[in-house]
Amino acid sequence: MHNSRIITNDFDFFQPTSMTELYELLADTSVETKLMAGGTDLIPQMKEGRKAPKRVISTMKIEELACITVQDGILKIGAAAKLKKVAAACSGLPTINALHQGVSSVGKLQILNMATIAGNICTASPAADTVPGLLTLGSSVTLKSVNGEREVALRDFLAGPGKTTIQANEVLYCINVPLPSENTGSEFKKMERVGADIAKINISVVVQRNGNTCESCKVAVGSCGPTTLLIDKVDDILGGQEISGPESELIQKAAQLVADTITPIDDIRSTAEYRRKVAAVIFMDVFQIAWVRAKGDAA
Ligand SMILES: Cc1cc2nc3c(=O)[nH]c(=O)nc-3n(C[C@H](O)[C@H](O)[C@H](O)COP(=O)(O)OP(=O)(O)OC[C@H]3O[C@@H](n4cnc5c(N)ncnc54)[C@H](O)[C@@H]3O)c2cc1C
Repeated sequence: MHNSRIITNDFDFFQPTSMTELYELLADTSVETKLMAGGTDLIPQMKEGRKAPKRVISTMKIEELACITVQDGILKIGAAAKLKKVAAACSGLPTINALHQGVSSVGKLQILNMATIAGNICTASPAADTVPGLLTLGSSVTLKSVNGEREVALRDFLAGPGKTTIQANEVLYCINVPLPSENTGSEFKKMERVGADIAKINISVVVQRNGNTCESCKVAVGSCGPTTLLIDKVDDILGGQEISGPESELIQKAAQLVADTITPIDDIRSTAEYRRKVAAVIFMDVFQIAWVRAKGDAA
């Protein structure tokens, strides 16, 4: 039985101020180490005894990690950029509305002021609210270590509940979000039990359209499988097709595919049955809003 208000294990705490200092600390993989950004996942896990690292290394004093920039059409979000700052950066970019909505839906103001996308991704919760938008936008992560850097597609980085493909000596340096063309619309929706709760189900849809033709449609569903699921086959149904209306046969077929593809379970927040039923309905609603946005109209 753990007292959820105190951390019972001893650990050393480091606050490097440069990437070089951070790489040197991470190079010693003999001691169990956790990186910490806002601490809104890690600290509760340590209080509950679910994580007991011997070293905690904060990323928050490294200035370059807090940067958000646009380079060659790619939004680069530093691993220590707070969600509130990310939301502000996304709000000026209408085509990535789904990411803005996902980021803004994480907790309430206290969490937005502390937490980061890097932490949301690295916790690897299937219910993470920033992940559906990032996946549907084709995002990747840049990982760095004393040995160099590598870029990994986000869909390959997320390996299962609580699992990623990061190595012990690596740090997630930034998240790369390709900015889509202007004929793109996107939308995110989250169903919760009460306000500021973890999602029962969350969905992001990103649509590119040319007149009434759907050029492509990316869909990701969270809280309905071991990781957030990017459902490629929806694009096989809708990509290149003329959309005659919001409840057309094609949209209904795509919605059924979404419901059939997810692998939800019963848990404290919802039931598999509810999740499956609602997935199809929410997909249709969210698709419709993204579709209207892709034309440049306000949804
Ligand atoms: C009250 C409350 C409400 C919440 N509501 C939501 C919600 O609505 N939706 C939601 O999705 N989540 C929610 N969360 C969970 C949490 O706030 C988010 O997952 C948040 O984005 C985590 O970010 P952080 O910076 O605090 O991560 P931290 O706790 O600092 O780190 C989380 C994990 O990421 C790792 N990590 C952090 N930075 C790096 C890095 N640069 N490289 C490698 N690994 C790294 C850490 O080692 C740790 O394993 C909530 C949490 C609380 C306490």
